[in-house]
Amino acid sequence: MATPSTANADLFARAQAVIPGGVNSPVRAFRSVGGTPYFVARAEGPYVWDAEGTRLLDLVQSYGAIIAGHAHPAIVAAIQEAAAGGTSYGAPTEREVLLAEEIRTRVPACERVRLVSSGTEATMSALRLARGATGRDRIVKFAGNYHGHSDGLLAEAGSAVALIEAEAGDAAGAVAVPGSAGVPAGAVADTIVAPYNVVPELDETIACVIVEPVAANMGLVTPAPGFLAGLRAECDRVGALLVFDEVITGFRLARGGAQARYGVTPDLSCFGKVIGGGLNVGAFGGRADVMEQLAPLGPVYQAGTLSGNPLATAAGLAALALLDDDAYVRLEATAARLGGGLQAAFDAAGLTARIPVEGTLVGLFMGAEVPLDYDAARTTDTTAYAALFHALLDRGVALAPGPYEILFPGLAHVDAVVDEVVALAAEAADAIAAG
Ligand SMILES: *Cc1c(COP(=O)(O)O)cnc(C)c1O
Repeated sequence: MATPSTANADLFARAQAVIPGGVNSPVRAFRSVGGTPYFVARAEGPYVWDAEGTRLLDLVQSYGAIIAGHAHPAIVAAIQEAAAGGTSYGAPTEREVLLAEEIRTRVPACERVRLVSSGTEATMSALRLARGATGRDRIVKFAGNYHGHSDGLLAEAGSAVALIEAEAGDAAGAVAVPGSAGVPAGAVADTIVAPYNVVPELDETIACVIVEPVAANMGLVTPAPGFLAGLRAECDRVGALLVFDEVITGFRLARGGAQARYGVTPDLSCFGKVIGGGLNVGAFGGRADVMEQLAPLGPVYQAGTLSGNPLATAAGLAALALLDDDAYVRLEATAARLGGGLQAAFDAAGLTARIPVEGTLVGLFMGAEVPLDYDAARTTDTTAYAALFHALLDRGVALAPGPYEILFPGLAHVDAVVDEVVALAAEAADAIAAG
């Protein structure tokens, strides 16, 4: 048995002996902030408890998969009830219909919806569909946008990929360089990487443009005025499809996601994170004529043994049921309180940091200017981020262990919790300033 005070380190040692790097997703290994990851034993509301019994005020919230707080009773009950009825059938269920209907109600551009099991699957499938529907091969993505880990999208992909990626030229229209070993040049030969916040000039070879409508994997980078509408117009001009990757923004930024907030309607939308209530769900949806190119109606193959899983759809439905109009009002107020509080605390301590807030989303950039693209985002002071990360963790506040992630305040981060985070951040900033 591990002694309580070394349980995290003991588990990490065991993990490293059996799991590459000790983790099942690279950012969790703390490589960019240093130190030993905490192993979570349980979580509730805004808190997680690690293997040593230490309580952390959690701003990671499963990178945005959790919006109502950990272990929300309504979501737990929905999962328990579903589980008692069987965990997977390989046949359609009513809950899948309900979840698809709920997505379409909130995001009317999703005339048809297909459920998958992750955000990666959603974007990967949406690209195949866009290529199949247009008969074109080439796609455009933006530097610093992360769309999961499928081969064709692992180029200048932000998030933890930024930490292993070779410096790649990202001039407008540059053909992509793979962002990972093991991705053949051929897999990204039809991926064109363009700078974020500049509308690229397209031609008739482009199947689709995929974009994070608010970039949240290079820190928080908001769309410049006219960027999203410009993409819509340019796609229309050449007959390319516009794909919004709303895996983070969907059901978090607004009831109808980024497309509702900015009034730009994509042809296809990708979802994940929030719609699973913490379980494995992704979805993609869009124009009926495009979506009906999917098998079994059309020639574009896409499938999944666990797609529409009963537990996952139950959790997703329960999560969305908590997200009424009032929830978004509260989430925005929480984001403003947290962002404003952190900015004031850092300013008071003389710590150079910018805390952009966009609706319900909060970023944290260690630098003097809020970035507008990946080049600017990569000027973030990673050493300063690591120092802040540890100063906060020592005081019981958990940020993501990587400088390109955002903060995920949710419905469980009530004012008193936010104020506690801000007070601890002020202490952390003062300690850093004092050296
Ligand atoms: C997290 C994320 C994905 C990938 O989702 P997974 O469920 O991790 O596969 C795709 N796009 C965006 C914008 C994301 O933030």
